[in-house]
Amino acid sequence: SAHKETLGFQAEVKQLLQLMIHSLYSNKEIFLRELVSNASDAADKLRFESMSNPALLDEDGELKIRVSFDSAARTLTVADNGIGMSRDEVIEHIGTIAKSGTRKFFEALTGDAQKDANLIGQFGVGFYSAFIVADKVTLTTRRAGAAAESGVRWESTGHGEYTLEAVDKPNRGTEVVLHLKEGEDEFLNDWRLRHIVRTYSDHISLPIEMKTVATADEEGKEAAETEETFEAVNQASALWARAKSEISDEQYREFYKHVAHDFSDPLAWSHARVEGRQEYTELLYIPSRAPFDLYDRERKQGVKLYVRRVFIMEDTEKLMPHYLRFVRGVIDASDLPLNVSREILQESKDIDAIRAGCIKKVLGMLDDLAQNDADKYASFWREFGQVLKEGVGEDFANKERIAKLLRFHSTAGESDAADVSLADYVGRMKEGQEKIYFITAETLAAAKNSPHLEVFKKKGIEVLLLVDRVDEWVGSHLHDFEGKALQSVAKGELDLGALEDEADKVAQQQAEEAAKPVIGRIAAALGERVKEVRATARLTDSPACLVVGEHDMSAHLERLLKSAGQ
Ligand code: ADP
Ligand code: MG
Repeated sequence: SAHKETLGFQAEVKQLLQLMIHSLYSNKEIFLRELVSNASDAADKLRFESMSNPALLDEDGELKIRVSFDSAARTLTVADNGIGMSRDEVIEHIGTIAKSGTRKFFEALTGDAQKDANLIGQFGVGFYSAFIVADKVTLTTRRAGAAAESGVRWESTGHGEYTLEAVDKPNRGTEVVLHLKEGEDEFLNDWRLRHIVRTYSDHISLPIEMKTVATADEEGKEAAETEETFEAVNQASALWARAKSEISDEQYREFYKHVAHDFSDPLAWSHARVEGRQEYTELLYIPSRAPFDLYDRERKQGVKLYVRRVFIMEDTEKLMPHYLRFVRGVIDASDLPLNVSREILQESKDIDAIRAGCIKKVLGMLDDLAQNDADKYASFWREFGQVLKEGVGEDFANKERIAKLLRFHSTAGESDAADVSLADYVGRMKEGQEKIYFITAETLAAAKNSPHLEVFKKKGIEVLLLVDRVDEWVGSHLHDFEGKALQSVAKGELDLGALEDEADKVAQQQAEEAAKPVIGRIAAALGERVKEVRATARLTDSPACLVVGEHDMSAHLERLLKSAGQ
């Protein structure tokens, strides 16, 4: 077709490309992993769509990926017969960064190459990584089910613009041709490419094929035959279905990068086959770093559901509760029907059972980290602690397990990190102490300097400092831990129980007596604005403090709701 259009990249794409080429160059061969990963996703999507529309597979039922090169033309090609893209999809997915969290990502960039390389890794750049080694990329694609003449060719040198043209494409799927930069000829080498595929993409469940290399004695025969033959370079079986003993840590890590679309290694994983009423395989990962869109309600990526190796859907809410939305991986169910629809899944008791089992598994994995690898757990807590805390209010059945995993700042804490568990606290409780005391505040400094803490300091009683946004919900949903009530020190009449000695009681009485005249005057002056003015022995340095009623909202929560416009 003669009609060729030139379109501009979204501004962010331009910026990202330059940055990425510089920061990922030292690990440039990952471009192949990214292109193969996309081809594999495209096959998953096609398999899924073909369940409701089997005709989509008619022209070619064997899904595969092919990697080939042309030394003379200096090109490298990755082709798949997956779902393909329509013209609009090409513009949306290849000309734009559709990812949520993009704005935050760009805000986080510092201009320091080292730091930015890390961020880029965290953000993930996928398709664009082709430009690390190519000075021109040509993508030709045709959506499954569309006519041969509705193919689309996208081409770009990665400098702000790309062209689009309509082309004939006899077979469905996508072909990406990389025109290699000067000096990148190492990728025009069969052995090198096979090595990269095996290193990064062995776990891909469909065959990644390369041209069979003729051996010396076959040479003559080969020359006579013009037919090219291809062979799979990878194992081409679903990684999670293999025996654990046959999977190396490196393979687990590479598989993670593919399912999670993450460039960093995972923090931990758990791989198990569950038998019983529900039979399924789970391979679940805890990422090492929070993605940019962790708090974006729109985000879709989560755990992937397969039924007997066939991809069904990717949906956090149905397979993982919201407070475990950082978990990535695969669940492969043996007993669900293949033609299961999203609607059926929403109602499915079988899925509920699998979900419950997987939640237990994740919480168990975290508990294991907390017990056996304090450093890793601390880093998990820094990245995802805020999210896990939501579980206290969200997952009643697992409240106890979640409570054990929580970490807080505390008046007894030695560092500025939130590293005190409720169990630590209980273990340090004073003789006669019955409650777990906490204070909520907007900042750590505000909490530490609160007049409410004075009496606790005097008596050497530890107080947890709850200073994160979500802590108000923790405070209002978690009422006890191991039989000990949680008590806000800023609420109601302070009852220290057995911790109060005779001297305290005398002091309180004396204070009340001495303050009577002044209390009366203060109460009259404040009038309707307060419920009550009371003398107290709980302050040692401050002249006065505000206390809310036992059943009233805390002052901090009140401020939060106000700032949220409620
Ligand atoms: P991600 O894979 O994390 O979504 P990429 O940059 O790797 O990000 O790819 C962007 C999008 O482009 C994909 O989500 C997909 O919609 C589309 N895409 C890329 N490669 C292919 C392909 N081979 N077949 C079909 N769609 C593709
Ligand atoms: Mg990708």
